[in-house]
Amino acid sequence: MIGVSACLIGENCTYSGKNNLVLGLKRLYELGEVVCVCPEVMGGLSTPRNPAEIQSVEPLLITTNQQVDVTKEYLEGAKKAMSIFLAHDVKVAILKFRSPSCGCDGIYDGTFSHTLIDGQGVFAKMCEEHGIKVFHEKQIEEFLKYIGKEDEYGTYFKDSTSI
Ligand code: SF4
Repeated sequence: MIGVSACLIGENCTYSGKNNLVLGLKRLYELGEVVCVCPEVMGGLSTPRNPAEIQSVEPLLITTNQQVDVTKEYLEGAKKAMSIFLAHDVKVAILKFRSPSCGCDGIYDGTFSHTLIDGQGVFAKMCEEHGIKVFHEKQIEEFLKYIGKEDEYGTYFKDSTSI
């Protein structure tokens, strides 16, 4: 099974109550190839919710833009999402770019000023610690190459758009 951030298959679970649909991933979901999770919702956070950013990695501190500490919810949600990935034997995942949960290749710096820094979201980091190879939605070509399905799945992404 391929693990995917739920917002990428069109679930309206982002902090603003919207989604980040990638049509090709939704097609794979409809074919039963994908298991999707939203760690933030699974951690008990509501939708919509205030945006949050990682303030410190060690010790971990995640706060909203209203200075509410949501570290516990993020960690709890990541653990629940991980147990679903493990139950479905997920070995590779596509997770949402830049999210404090799902971001695998850069996160915001904690100032809520759209400043990117190196780092990973809580769930993306947990995935890598469990040996799951993580890509983000701007790396579809690399992902298809990695799983060796460029021809089989490539066509699903030809007219695929993110909104
Ligand atoms: Fe999408 Fe992940 Fe954020 Fe949920 S936690 S909205 S799946 S990026």
